[in-house]
Amino acid sequence: MQAAATLFQELSGYLKPDDVAQLESAYQFSERAHQGQFRVSGEPYISHPLAVANILAKWHLDSQALTAALLHDVMEDTAVSKADISKHFGKPVAELVDGVSKLDKIEFQTHEDAQAENFRKMLLAMARDVRVMLIKLADRLHNMRTLEGLAQDKRRRIARETLEIYAPIANRLGLNSIYQELEDLSFRYLYPRRYQVLSKAVRAARGNRREVVGKIREAIQRRLADAGVEATVTGREKNLYSIYSKMHDKHLSFANVHDIYGVRVIVKDVATCYLALGTLHGLYKPIPGKFKDYIAIAKANGYQSLHTTLFGPFSMPIEVQIRTLDMHKIAEAGVASHWLYKSSDASLSELQKKTHRWLQSLIEMQSESGDAVEFLEHLKVDLFPDEVYVFTPKGRIMTLPRGATAVDFAYAVHTDIGNRCVAVKINDELMPLRTELRNGDRIEIITAAHAKPNPTWLNYVVTGKARSHIRHFLRTMRFQESVQLGERLLNQALAAMQTNLAEIGEGPWEKMLKETAAKSSTDILADIGLGKRLAVVVARQLLARGLDDGEAVELRPSGPVVIRGSEGMAVQLAKCCRPIPGDPIIGMITKGHGMIVHTHDCPALAKMRLDPDKILDIEWSPDTKKVFDVNIKIMVANQRGVLAKVAAEIAENGSNIENVAMDPQDGSHYTTMHFTLEVMNRTHLARILRSLRRVPEVMRIARVKG
Ligand code: MN
Repeated sequence: MQAAATLFQELSGYLKPDDVAQLESAYQFSERAHQGQFRVSGEPYISHPLAVANILAKWHLDSQALTAALLHDVMEDTAVSKADISKHFGKPVAELVDGVSKLDKIEFQTHEDAQAENFRKMLLAMARDVRVMLIKLADRLHNMRTLEGLAQDKRRRIARETLEIYAPIANRLGLNSIYQELEDLSFRYLYPRRYQVLSKAVRAARGNRREVVGKIREAIQRRLADAGVEATVTGREKNLYSIYSKMHDKHLSFANVHDIYGVRVIVKDVATCYLALGTLHGLYKPIPGKFKDYIAIAKANGYQSLHTTLFGPFSMPIEVQIRTLDMHKIAEAGVASHWLYKSSDASLSELQKKTHRWLQSLIEMQSESGDAVEFLEHLKVDLFPDEVYVFTPKGRIMTLPRGATAVDFAYAVHTDIGNRCVAVKINDELMPLRTELRNGDRIEIITAAHAKPNPTWLNYVVTGKARSHIRHFLRTMRFQESVQLGERLLNQALAAMQTNLAEIGEGPWEKMLKETAAKSSTDILADIGLGKRLAVVVARQLLARGLDDGEAVELRPSGPVVIRGSEGMAVQLAKCCRPIPGDPIIGMITKGHGMIVHTHDCPALAKMRLDPDKILDIEWSPDTKKVFDVNIKIMVANQRGVLAKVAAEIAENGSNIENVAMDPQDGSHYTTMHFTLEVMNRTHLARILRSLRRVPEVMRIARVKG
């Protein structure tokens, strides 16, 4: 077979004869195993593992990985077992094949939960041995190259999966050429019409602009030579999909995408990179704001270069990348450059280490979150990086994704700093924690010993680390609160049966735990607090287990559950009616979200279909030491300074304004203002309303529920 000959010629170029011999036997083994199987194209199946091995040989991957590549489908499609492979080719190869086979089993589903779970498994496999992922990517690349024969819906499914999952991973691993090819192939099968139109446009433009680009390249080459800078200057083209994304994201027409052509300058060392940059800025003017120094601060996948965009002749902007040869190697092959250039180059092994650290952090994150969808969310941030660089007070550089806030920074420094942060100084100025960080900011986090993460942080943090730590903290806290609420609810239900928790004792609990999936009575209490179990049902079950045969449970009405409004996340005050102490209230148990408290007359509540088992009789505790939000609307005469008068009256009565909004001016004499106020209870609110009515401009005033 021709492909086999090519492969072994390539392999002999860099592997020892012994290794090549093992690969020969792996090839024969695989061919025998796949005997009689064919691809959709009609070719014998062995052509596929051969092609995959060929791709990996281009990166000079080691013989274990190549052996595994040749065998990557045998466990899946033939009778060969992992033990067989281990016996013939050793345990490391068997592990690699097993890893790839596990990834193969993953059928990405549209259902987000399943997809997330699969994605997670895939990354974990990669975290154990990045070679598994390299084999899988080569496998996917060959499958994408031979997608033509498949049915259309299958093509689209595979293309979408490649675009959403495999291409970003290839990018994160710095496998640049694979990444671009995967993107372009996906684009072609996912949007065949757009692909055709765009590739035609690019071909035409190439014809028109070729001459100009050639002239610019020559001019650059000449100017560098004149300045005594030794450099290799080449032209480069943006791949189709990135042109398409740019048009799509920035709503540009093709004619307005100018940087489809660029120039790449490769020089001998870092100092020369900057020298070349200066020389080129002398030749053509740089476009302000387009210069990026990825040498001083490398991208997460190890990429380094100087980027600048120049005003070329014929008003053609031209993007220039300047880098050293070593940087170029990493830019082309990413993690694979470790195998491709087996040099002692420190930057290559540093890249390996960085990749390894990234993968380790994924493992850490996944064990902490435990929730697949959440994990996927974290990961997407990591896979689509667009970064900002900021400084610690000691001058250390931290890299964060674009959009990161001070809270993200705090968690990036240390989990404890994140959990305890209360304020931030950005460039010596006190700023809100939600402030989005900008390049070059110097960030100092201020912490307090007893501070705790706030649920609202989740609205603006962007890093996986911050998000997962905040959620973890809240979950733990919420669990404790749910246990407390569950205990109160259960006691109330037991009271109706003329007993209480203390009287029940340990016996019935033990019996009940044996019969259910719950691990402890605490778990059951938390379930009650979260609304996953009904207190009445648990009470009956406990009681039944404490009774002798034939005895019956006698019910009598019990008093309401008392709430203080400060229970935390297990008891939430409904946002529609915003109940305050003094209001008649009812509790609604919602599955997984604990209890929501509504006012009796809440209009939203009236619209819901209510399950009597989930409605609770509750009342306010007499000592609620807390302020509560309440909504009111005030109709006022449209006069200058009326808002100030109203606000002063509110403050006078010891209340804070949480929020205020006004209806748009429609030229009439009256306007309506909407306030959210902080009050202690109904009496407090009544006092405020009374004094507001005394303001002459106030026409009408009402509390708003729903
Ligand atoms: Mn395969």
